[in-house]
Amino acid sequence: MKSKIKKIGVFTSGGDSPGMNAAIRAVVRTCAYLKVDCVGIYRGYQGMIEADFKPMDARSVNNIINKGGTILKSARCDDFRTAEGRKKAYDNLIAEGIDALVVIGGDGSFTGAMVFNKEYDFPIIGIPGTIDNDIFGTSNTLGFDTATNTVVEIIDKIRDTASSHNRLFFVEVMGRDVGHIALNVGVGAGAEEILIPEENLGLERLLESLKRSKKSGKSSSIVVVAEGDKTGENVFELKDYVEKHLPIYDVRVSVLGHLQRGGAPSCFDRVLASRMGVKAVESLLEGKSNFMVGIQNNEITLTPISKAIKGHTKIDKELIRVSDIMTT
Ligand code: ADP
Repeated sequence: MKSKIKKIGVFTSGGDSPGMNAAIRAVVRTCAYLKVDCVGIYRGYQGMIEADFKPMDARSVNNIINKGGTILKSARCDDFRTAEGRKKAYDNLIAEGIDALVVIGGDGSFTGAMVFNKEYDFPIIGIPGTIDNDIFGTSNTLGFDTATNTVVEIIDKIRDTASSHNRLFFVEVMGRDVGHIALNVGVGAGAEEILIPEENLGLERLLESLKRSKKSGKSSSIVVVAEGDKTGENVFELKDYVEKHLPIYDVRVSVLGHLQRGGAPSCFDRVLASRMGVKAVESLLEGKSNFMVGIQNNEITLTPISKAIKGHTKIDKELIRVSDIMTT
């Protein structure tokens, strides 16, 4: 493969997610395989502005495929939102001899990459790393599978205590704007109800469903609530509401928070990261830029970054239907 690109910089940016390390490893190893230099950029755009670079060879990524978080660290960087900040970043990249970038992050990081590419015509490929699964152009983002597995495991444990005490648990999971985590873990953990930002199921329906569940002899109930659910009540207000209208229930709340972001990546996320890393480097060497690597129908694909940012992911209506059937 003949290419103008001789040195690729790789970095993680924005919120971290399990599988980012596996993606770094894949990028570094693909560079080594194709005999292109690779440089790790620490703390995302901040490290670019501060020239926090470290050359990486195949051995520098030993034993990281199984680690959560990101060895390159992640950061949010306001300076990169300014033209001066981006100029500094550009000068540092040129001084280091870096001539293309792989950005592993969410839509904010992709927006930064696009702005930078427009200004300096710098070749960039994105790998979607976020647990929320909210990026258009890929059925899975890195970390979503791991996060849903983590949450299901925790809800299974909560159910043990819920059923021992005949309790109702509201479990709040991540998802301010999108309910992909909530819907999937709700179905996977057998939740009674799933409250998501995309649909307003209404408080009445929640009460009806809980009443039905009590009548049918269920000893415990789990309701999964996405942070941004449309009832407009937060999870503690929901608890108060249900206790007021259905005093028969002893309600508890569990907010999972950052537990959902950590942990060893699942096999699925490791394999996905490896496939995406290979595609990202190969695409740069083929002269492609401004694309995001994704997976669609189990094929690794490229979507223009602009579309990935602007497009919206849709909640899986069929899965909502399945969930409804499961809770009868
Ligand atoms: P995520 O990638 O997880 O969505 P953020 O939204 O925090 O995370 O974005 C990560 C970083 O990307 C920001 O801290 C900033 O440095 C950069 N970025 C985001 N939007 C822009 C923009 N419009 N212009 C330049 N840089 C941006």
